[in-house]
Amino acid sequence: MDDQGCPRCKTTKYRNPSLKLMVNVCGHTLCESCVELLFVRGAGNCQECDTPLRKSNFRVQLFEDPAVDKEVEIRKKVLKIYNKREDDFPSLVEYNDFLEEVEEIVFNLTNNIDVENTKKKMETYQKENKEVIQKNKIKLSREQEELEEALEVERQGNEQRRLLIQKEEQMQQMLKRKNKQELLDKLGQHISLAPAPKIEEVLYEYKPLHVETYGPQVPELELLGKLGYLNHVRAASPQDLAGGYTSSLACHRALQDAFSGLFWHPG
Ligand SMILES: [Zn+2]
Ligand SMILES: [Zn+2]
Repeated sequence: MDDQGCPRCKTTKYRNPSLKLMVNVCGHTLCESCVELLFVRGAGNCQECDTPLRKSNFRVQLFEDPAVDKEVEIRKKVLKIYNKREDDFPSLVEYNDFLEEVEEIVFNLTNNIDVENTKKKMETYQKENKEVIQKNKIKLSREQEELEEALEVERQGNEQRRLLIQKEEQMQQMLKRKNKQELLDKLGQHISLAPAPKIEEVLYEYKPLHVETYGPQVPELELLGKLGYLNHVRAASPQDLAGGYTSSLACHRALQDAFSGLFWHPG
């Protein structure tokens, strides 16, 4: 691909990416600064083909090939005059002939073929079809207006639908919030954002077992021997003692059993 550039100052888009190339009716390219320089008085001749040009007719080159820009501009002008539609013709064949004629005019003007005759042909056509051209021009602008109106109606419809959906969503959200609050109220709970209360650990403290017997107090295990209770139970054998057994254990339990059933009344 050729790097696009200005034929006069040789600046290219490669060297200057912000280079703005302009094109005029003859299809030749110049950069914006060269246009400013050469057409300082508002008009002048093309450096390439000597066509008289107006500065105001320079357009920013949209297509890589400046000839395309030229054709687009020419087509716009031609179609302003050749604005007949299919229903302006008695048959499709005639309409197709008309379209072919338009293409030929655009092609000739774009490629500088038979320019004088082509221009004369256009002028003649314009004079002969003055009324149709005017009628179609009005029709076209009316159609454009109608199209814009239809678009506006559609836009308003969309906006209303959007608002409706938004309202519906807000209602749903309100309902949701309300239901949630009702549920919380019913449970008697409130969401608290305070940190969970700290649980104080308390060390285990041993409390001796207290047995409620309703009977008289059983003497302490250690005192059984002293109080003479052990005189009435069998002495533990050495084998029994080796296993951790003592006579006082058995005696103490027997006393607890005996005392627990007594409903003793002191005094
Ligand atoms: Zn230049
Ligand atoms: Zn030129």
